[in-house]
Amino acid sequence: MRKSVEKSADILAKKSLTNRHWMVLTVLALASLTTMAQQPNPTQSADPGANQTASSQAAPNQATASQPNQPQANLAPPTTMDQVVDRVVLREKDLIKFLSQRTPVVETYLQNLTQDPQLGPIPQEDHYFLGRMDFSESIDRSDFIQNKGKEKDKEKDESMEKRLLGGFTKKFKFQYQPLGFSWMVFADRTDFDRQHYDFHYARREFLGDVRCLVFDLTPKKDAGRGRFLGRIWVEDQDFNIVRLNGTYAHPSRNNYYFHMDSWRLNLIPGYWLPAYIYSEEGDFTAGARNRIAFKGQTRLWGYNLKPAINNDELTNIRVDSVKDDTPTAQDATPLAAEREWQQQAEDNVIERLERAGLLAPEGDVDKVLQTVVNNIEITNNIELPRPVRTRVLTTSPLETFSVGNTIVVSRGLIDVLPDEGALAMVLSHELAHIVLGHNLGSQYAFNDRMLFSDEATYQNFGFKHIPEEEAAADKKAIELLKASPYAQKLEAAGLFIKALQARAPQLSALLQAHLGNNITENGTVTRMAQLATAAPALDWYKLDQIAALPLGGRVKLNAWDDRVEMVKSQPVAITSARDKMPFEVTPFYPRLSRYNATPAAAASAPAATASANPAPSN
Ligand SMILES: [Zn+2]
Repeated sequence: MRKSVEKSADILAKKSLTNRHWMVLTVLALASLTTMAQQPNPTQSADPGANQTASSQAAPNQATASQPNQPQANLAPPTTMDQVVDRVVLREKDLIKFLSQRTPVVETYLQNLTQDPQLGPIPQEDHYFLGRMDFSESIDRSDFIQNKGKEKDKEKDESMEKRLLGGFTKKFKFQYQPLGFSWMVFADRTDFDRQHYDFHYARREFLGDVRCLVFDLTPKKDAGRGRFLGRIWVEDQDFNIVRLNGTYAHPSRNNYYFHMDSWRLNLIPGYWLPAYIYSEEGDFTAGARNRIAFKGQTRLWGYNLKPAINNDELTNIRVDSVKDDTPTAQDATPLAAEREWQQQAEDNVIERLERAGLLAPEGDVDKVLQTVVNNIEITNNIELPRPVRTRVLTTSPLETFSVGNTIVVSRGLIDVLPDEGALAMVLSHELAHIVLGHNLGSQYAFNDRMLFSDEATYQNFGFKHIPEEEAAADKKAIELLKASPYAQKLEAAGLFIKALQARAPQLSALLQAHLGNNITENGTVTRMAQLATAAPALDWYKLDQIAALPLGGRVKLNAWDDRVEMVKSQPVAITSARDKMPFEVTPFYPRLSRYNATPAAAASAPAATASANPAPSN
């Protein structure tokens, strides 16, 4: 047998190993930072270009590998701050043009907050939006999740430009507009220039590995409503905006603009793609009139997704010509035919979800999931005709499902699970479905059923089991776990169920599954609920009891190609009960680095810096 049980500690050990590796890189990055800090501060000489020579010399190297319409390759380095601003404006316009061809997925998850005397602001209710952005004309979006009823019709009547950028206040009722949360992908889509804005240079600052120029932007007096007001960070090689933080000025009477913190990542040569936007409103100081209070995370991904309509199927015919050399190359037996059929359905579904940007390509996270599945399989002597595969749904709501022999787990669910035992709990339920032969989705072996728009995915796909199968899968899963290496490690899994139970009434949007079965029914956790009985009492105030993590702590999603990877950041010590933030959204703070800053490149960076700048010699 090829497979072997990997000790659960091994996965964690691997993780800490990568952590250590990462720490080494950090030290190196810091070393290069120090080198740079030793250079004279060019801002004092009002000559930001003077210090750019080294980095500009490196730039052509990068430019050759990049998109052809990268203008700065031909431009001399700016020598005055006004020239820098002109370059920033130019790069922003170029990004707007570049993105006009793109229709990334945009997801907003937000939690309305209420003040808990001890835990601080905690979720009171939540909202979830998922759609595709269309940057082509005016920014628009189409939603995966359809709002039913009048509101939608009303929305249609108002043109997108008129519709608010932030949201709506009607008397004291507050309504969220999905578009509002993603508005700050750009500072100003139409008039980002020196005619409409004053740029005040503030300082230099590192964001992660990237040295930035920081500008405060204020709209000119007559620039009109809805102009950006806040701060931008501009990387100091090509002068792309990498972060925007602020709001929009002068809302009209019925409008309200959120505050936003918007981050871009250098995932392809030459462009920094809007990837994360954090919004937050609310004031919990004593006596504050607290009309709205929320925290919201917006994520964009799938920039490289093909437009919904394409003829790729015609031009890109895949020929997987594998000669069938089984001894009896004959027609399939009825059972073999059934399995082929299910395989075809499974492949169709996986491919279609990937094409819609809802499923990450196969990758490292799958290896972690697969190891846990293997551990359960081996110890239970499970031999299946086809190996079980795992894949990651790119979305936040906590859900799992399986199609054929593929187990799918959402990014959000992996994020909030406290430990490997809890992951085993989640996977064992789906594995149980597979072992029990609860196959769903054979209808998707018909290819006509794949022909729908990406936005209609949730209307066309569904993998919900009947309650009897759910109960049977839970029962079987408990058996599998009891015989697995996780048998003695299910305490945190039980606590997770308890924590989920405690928060479920406030988190209905996060708990709304879109493809699989809900983990809760009517606010009560049903999935694997039995594990909660053996778990210790839930104690929000006990600092070393971690029942669930905040969103975004484990899985990192690449906004360009949808790949997912495990986050390798060092855990930060919890010092108060408010630090635990189970199931909660938090601000984003990605470590910025330039494209190609792979571990190898980063490791050699200090040397390159040293040779380019002869001054500091060891
Ligand atoms: Zn199930």
